[in-house]
Amino acid sequence: MSVAREIRPEETSLRWFGLEKPVNHSWQGEVATPVGETCRFCLQPILDGDQGWTMPHWDGYNRPKPKPYHHDCLLRAITGKGADEWAAELEKRGE
Ligand SMILES: [Zn+2]
Repeated sequence: MSVAREIRPEETSLRWFGLEKPVNHSWQGEVATPVGETCRFCLQPILDGDQGWTMPHWDGYNRPKPKPYHHDCLLRAITGKGADEWAAELEKRGE
């Protein structure tokens, strides 16, 4: 028989890993770089020095488990554009 345990808010949010944080990063926690785990977008291993996010994944009724994404991969997964393309677009707009 399993014992229900409260799921903490930090278990359900994006969390940053890596040295250089995004400029507006202040509302999320940080985690250690999950070296050796697989990026869920590009399926390449996370390396020491990579930057990115962990995002909770649920499997059935189990607890959320954080899965890593490279920063560029998460941008691309959500928006279809990578960081370089966003930088070029913002420069074009003068932002
Ligand atoms: Zn990736």
